[in-house]
Amino acid sequence: MLQFIPVHEGNLFAIRATGRLTHTDYQAFLPELEDLISQHGKISLLIECESFSGWDLAAIKDDVQFSLKHNHDFEKIALVGDKAWHQWMTLMAKPFMNSEIKYFSRTELPAAWDWLRDKKLKTAPSVTASPPQPYQHIIVAVDFSPHSEKATYRAMQLTEQSGAHLTMLTVVDDMEFYSAYLEPMDMNAITQPYDPEITASLAASAHTMAEDNLRKLVEKTQAKGIQTEISIGSPSSSIISYAEATNCDLLVMGTHGRHGLSRLLGSTAHSVQNHARCEVLMVPLDD
Ligand code: AMP
Repeated sequence: MLQFIPVHEGNLFAIRATGRLTHTDYQAFLPELEDLISQHGKISLLIECESFSGWDLAAIKDDVQFSLKHNHDFEKIALVGDKAWHQWMTLMAKPFMNSEIKYFSRTELPAAWDWLRDKKLKTAPSVTASPPQPYQHIIVAVDFSPHSEKATYRAMQLTEQSGAHLTMLTVVDDMEFYSAYLEPMDMNAITQPYDPEITASLAASAHTMAEDNLRKLVEKTQAKGIQTEISIGSPSSSIISYAEATNCDLLVMGTHGRHGLSRLLGSTAHSVQNHARCEVLMVPLDD
């Protein structure tokens, strides 16, 4: 599956590739990318691969044709991956592309954004450099648990105080629809051939359910002027990626979510807190 990660910054765009890419994915996606190229001239692109397992044959053809046609239309391409062959893929594409192209591992996602944005890496962090600024973009991550509802109220309060822009983000966990193909005792063993139609229809119904839940939560909390977003992928990395893409300065989350209270911090909360570059506020439930 291919999806855009929203970035509203000049000619900079980001996409996420998950699972196996098919001709249908490219048919839906390439016209949008071509539109962006015709609007902006040259664009820079972050391609984030997550649980990405390759292409079917027709999709490889689409990819090669597109790259040949548009190899002068990219300024910079950052490929963020989690497998050795993602890095090989970047190396192999280099001679065919006219743009700068660079590979980053998942833990280097912030560095990939800095490279695309031409930001110089600071040699040493400074605590005295500048006084703290009011928040500009707050994201509340919601999984529709009571914890994330409480986090939403806190985020609304902080938004009002700071005059920031507020986004409510939910992530549809793609393991829910890819797990249909995996052996429960061995998540690397595939039990049946990948069926893009089944996956697309599972993804579409999960998306509709997420839209519905977001709408209900906005109604219940009466959040005004809030933007809602749905990502598909692993919750923690999608939240971190969205925060990087949109220059978020505060992420608000519940300490736990739908998947229980077994640890001190839930697994999504823990991973986001460990890897996000912006401030992260964990909101506990009262009792
Ligand atoms: P967890 O770590 O999964 O117990 O969840 C802790 C918090 O992470 C929740 O209260 C939400 O704020 C956030 N969260 C967990 N899963 C998701 C998700 N799928 N989409 C957005 N936020 C999530």
